Amino acid sequence: MKTKRRHTPRVPPELVLDRLEQAYGYEEWSPRMTALDELLFTVLTQHTSDSNAEVAFTAMRKRYPTWGVVLEADTKELANTIRSGGLANQKAPRLQLILMEILRRKGEFNIEFLGDLPLEEARTWLTTLPGVGPKTAAVTLAFSLGMPAMPVDTHIYRVGKRIGLISMTTNVDDAHVIMEAQVPKERVYSYHVQLIAHGRQTCKAIRPLCDRCALQDLCPSAPTFAAAFEKPKFKRPIRSGKPL
Ligand code: SF4
Repeated sequence: MKTKRRHTPRVPPELVLDRLEQAYGYEEWSPRMTALDELLFTVLTQHTSDSNAEVAFTAMRKRYPTWGVVLEADTKELANTIRSGGLANQKAPRLQLILMEILRRKGEFNIEFLGDLPLEEARTWLTTLPGVGPKTAAVTLAFSLGMPAMPVDTHIYRVGKRIGLISMTTNVDDAHVIMEAQVPKERVYSYHVQLIAHGRQTCKAIRPLCDRCALQDLCPSAPTFAAAFEKPKFKRPIRSGKPL
């Protein structure tokens, strides 16, 4: 619902981005693989680390030279090949269903045409594929095609709530839409990259490093963490008039 997707940020998003670019360095977009490779790789990253997914993706590409061969592969054998990516028994049939649907819609294993569509149309095309949600679609569009889609991963979701870019009750699907609209289109990729860097390096899940954070003076959560991690002040017990 539209009303749920409105949120007034507690700090100016572009100021946040300026500070983070200064802190971590600006990263120019360049495609890292084809759109279809990116889509299927991103499916492999679901519920696992990028490094595990990379091992699975490399093994799959090595064993099956084309996407047509992946589609026709024995599903159990495919699952064994991508086992290191986790949830292999679910991901193997999902990959094949996606390939089957792309072949049905386009007649080939190629989705580069999405880069010529308006963002919403491209997103809808992807999210109507089996097992493709908003995050997988946004990663594909942003990383392979340079479109202004904002993938929200666990780091961005956490940091966004702490800084007040989204509310504590915003769900992750709405966070994609809200955060995507917070900076100009040409800065969305950088917004994504910088917030991930910030979540990994400084605004960590368990113990954020607020005292060395470039956003400390802006962040509404900083005082709460400062109080929570303040060293307890022990009074040294006095015995016989002398400190122990
Ligand atoms: S001040 Fe602390 S909580 Fe706020 S963004 Fe920085 S590290 Fe995260």
